[in-house]
Amino acid sequence: MSEFIVETTTPNGYKLKLQTGLFINNEFVAGADTLETINPSTGKIIANVQAADKNDVNKAVQAAHNAFNGPWGKMSALNRAALMFKLADLIDRDNEELSQIETMDNGKGITFARLFDVKQIAISLRYFAGYADKVHGKVIDTEGALSYTRHEPIGVCGAIIPWNFPLMMLGWKLGPALATGNTCVVKTSELTPLSAYKVAQLVIEAGFPPGVINIITGLGAIAGDALARNMDVHKIAFTGSTAVGRLIMKAAAESNLKKVTLELGGKSPNIIFDDCDLDQAVRWAHKGIFFNHGQTCCAGSRIYVQSTIHDEFLRKFKEYTSQTKLGNPHDDDTFQGPQVSQTQFDRIMGFIDTGKKEGATCFLGGERWGDEGYFIQPTVFTDVKEDMAIVKEEIFGPVVTVSKFNDVEDVLHMALDTEYGLAAAVFTKDTARAIDVSNRLKAGTVWVNCFNELDYNTPFGGFRQSGIGRENGEYALDNYIQVKTVKINVSRKP
Ligand code: NAD
Ligand code: MN
Repeated sequence: MSEFIVETTTPNGYKLKLQTGLFINNEFVAGADTLETINPSTGKIIANVQAADKNDVNKAVQAAHNAFNGPWGKMSALNRAALMFKLADLIDRDNEELSQIETMDNGKGITFARLFDVKQIAISLRYFAGYADKVHGKVIDTEGALSYTRHEPIGVCGAIIPWNFPLMMLGWKLGPALATGNTCVVKTSELTPLSAYKVAQLVIEAGFPPGVINIITGLGAIAGDALARNMDVHKIAFTGSTAVGRLIMKAAAESNLKKVTLELGGKSPNIIFDDCDLDQAVRWAHKGIFFNHGQTCCAGSRIYVQSTIHDEFLRKFKEYTSQTKLGNPHDDDTFQGPQVSQTQFDRIMGFIDTGKKEGATCFLGGERWGDEGYFIQPTVFTDVKEDMAIVKEEIFGPVVTVSKFNDVEDVLHMALDTEYGLAAAVFTKDTARAIDVSNRLKAGTVWVNCFNELDYNTPFGGFRQSGIGRENGEYALDNYIQVKTVKINVSRKP
């Protein structure tokens, strides 16, 4: 294990010893290539990590295949669960180190990494571990035969995860896959490969048999594509952009028709009626867009405020936004750190430019912050038209539009004018209106009087082009099993 170790220190003096290398068969091995991972606070290289090509992907899949047909397939559900609980405990034990790695590689605030990201992966593992020995079929009453179903694992499950919540996404994929008896090959984002390698070390320490969990990084078009096309991978779970989601489906169709679940982009409307608790709505709307620097698929990036309270909302929103700290993500009190990469920074600044050119009013922010790293001021556009790019497209940064509306019909017309359908929110004290509007919104999650509240035990996923399938909660298990009907003849005649 001495190879591919990088020693580094965070800007705040925390010393890190990073294990890198493709994690295949419980070993850290070389890949065909290498890639640089960058600290987005400084723009400087943290480490060169091994990157997988098709051949490396095949090796990882072979390892997962052998584990599925070997020790993992033979292990009792209770023992599988015990390993998952052990891994969750080790993740909690090493919360600080994992948080430091995540903050350094991704740029998210250290307090959020500690209290959210690292906690969530442990929670996912524990929640799904509890299901390991409770995934079973039914007995179905059929005349002259005993019929029952078995919920069997699929085999090798591939996962391709993004950079916005590297550890939490790892948990969302590993939890249901392992609990149902599958083995995994996870491709992490080339922008944030480091934290998953720390988890890989803990996989060994927990005592998982080799090949059950394989974690590799590499470029999407090379390693991701190879995983999506591999003939021994029978299920693929993807989180990322809608454009790449399409490519994953195509790759599955062109190879072995592996089962596909997709968790894609969004442009979630946040509807604020004048009878709401305005101070609370302001705080939730702020969390809705600026949490994780706007790099959240369910971000509330279109705020609709009833015209009677529009100006007051804006005044309070600006006041609240100016109180939250933007800067070094390693400081405990930082709310907003840098965007993840130069590419994302340029893309977001491009949208801000377009917004200004198209004639929207840049009410707040709109500029880069600091002179190094990828920091962008929290940005609010007003006087927008519904067909502007900043209202239509997923920006995936700290940029929000605020539009006015008069009544329910008016706002639903605007809110529903999108190809996405990941999430939506409504703020009102009127219960009947909350229920009516929630029912009419087309989104996988509707929040009433809150925003960006996710729980490990409630399903999450998209309507329309925001995705296929649900993650979290009992619903997630369906994606990782295949149902077999067994029919035993009792008294039927041929
Ligand atoms: P992306 O969709 O390109 O990347 C997500 C993952 O897919 C990464 O692991 C990447 O390596 C992999 N990938 C890329 N091309 C692939 C291919 N051809 N085959 C298989 N895998 C492939 O996202 P991005 O480029 O990092 O970000 C671009 C935009 O995507 C963002 O601005 C945002 O709009 C959106 N996004 C959404 C989410 C989300 O949670 N829904 C997450 C990240 C990005
Ligand atoms: Mn990075």
